[in-house]
Amino acid sequence: MMKVFKFGGASVKDASAIKNVANVIKRDASPQLLVVVSAMGKTTNHLEKVAFAYCEGRAWRDDFEAVRAYHFEILTQLFPSPNWIFQEVSRSFEKLEQKLKQRPSANAHYEYDQIVSYGEVVSSLIIDGFLKSEGLPSHGWDARFLVRTNALYREAQVDWTTTEQLIQREWNALPEGPKICVCQGFIGHTAENATTTLGREGSDYSAAIFAWCLQAESVTIWKDVPGMLNADPKWFDDTVRLPKISYKEALELSYYGATVIHPKTIKPLQNKNIPLYVRSFIDPSIPGTDITADTSQDHLIPSFIFKVNQVLISIVPKDFSFVVEENLRDLFALFSTLGVKINLMQNSALDFSVCVDDGPPVRQLIDQLRNQYAVRFNDKQELVTIRHYNQDTINRVLVNKRVLLEQRTRQTLRMVISDWQPDAQ
Ligand code: ASP
Ligand code: MG
Repeated sequence: MMKVFKFGGASVKDASAIKNVANVIKRDASPQLLVVVSAMGKTTNHLEKVAFAYCEGRAWRDDFEAVRAYHFEILTQLFPSPNWIFQEVSRSFEKLEQKLKQRPSANAHYEYDQIVSYGEVVSSLIIDGFLKSEGLPSHGWDARFLVRTNALYREAQVDWTTTEQLIQREWNALPEGPKICVCQGFIGHTAENATTTLGREGSDYSAAIFAWCLQAESVTIWKDVPGMLNADPKWFDDTVRLPKISYKEALELSYYGATVIHPKTIKPLQNKNIPLYVRSFIDPSIPGTDITADTSQDHLIPSFIFKVNQVLISIVPKDFSFVVEENLRDLFALFSTLGVKINLMQNSALDFSVCVDDGPPVRQLIDQLRNQYAVRFNDKQELVTIRHYNQDTINRVLVNKRVLLEQRTRQTLRMVISDWQPDAQ
């Protein structure tokens, strides 16, 4: 049986990181591996800038050249002298440059995918080339022929039946014996052969797609953390690793905002009962986190998820009428049109409250709501979710905080909180 490994941007951000990837792979003596790779380092962010500039008719050249130079710097450090891999990477950048010299179409999402996908394309070329140079049985794959999607650019949806056929055919055509396929995460293609992307941070999801199609034995996501932790170390001093959790728990944690795994990753793996391992590429000997169907250990360690920079908006009909289905339908339509995602909601007789990430669309939303509703809002709030809470964990997050809104279920406590200011009671 084969396994799937996924390496994200941080694990391939420079030449020494890529050498480390090769070492992690070499730990498997006789590999049957599919390796999914992201764009190197922050390449996707840089290519996004190129894409936006291109579509808006602004200068893209400097950002483009910076991305090209960064990849050639890595190549120069990986290989003693220019070889065929340099040529391949060069050709890719030339293709992208040709594209950028043409006039953009009116569809900015389409243009985005055609441009940003190059990050994964050149990353996989370099990694496949390096593994080959290390004597590993590596095969370069191209997701632009394997992962079939619809044409919903930037959030493309997978056509599972066609994708499964394409990927199985490709895998079965490989020679017997040890093999490593290196393929891009994040990208796919339409039936008309246009490149698509699956949404930011989508490479984890790609790993799950390949695993589902090839009935993999397991998926391992290699990260710069020792596994899934019970809180983000950015907000908490003494975090602990979650050694073993269920698919359900992992899904809940990512839904509430834990960023370790892309939320879409879990479903395909759960559906085929394929274990997901989160491991440290810095120290592969650390046991990491195992995510399986077993729910028996979910309750053992409480987890904390923080979302900062939240706005709590309370919406009240101006004419003192109840908030009923018709209002809610119109409200949801407005949220969805403006692309404002609701992190938490609650309603009472006269008001409907939501907690959302702050940003320009929210201010627009508030303006529009004010036509029909009395709107109050508090910004600079935090939304904290505690899974498997108890009084100790609540006390821990409420030090010097005040609570504006609270929701409890048996396993989950969610609170909108902010810093305690004596004059703001
Ligand atoms: N490179 C893409 C991104 O940065 C996909 C990924 O890394 O998962 O969003
Ligand atoms: Mg990533």
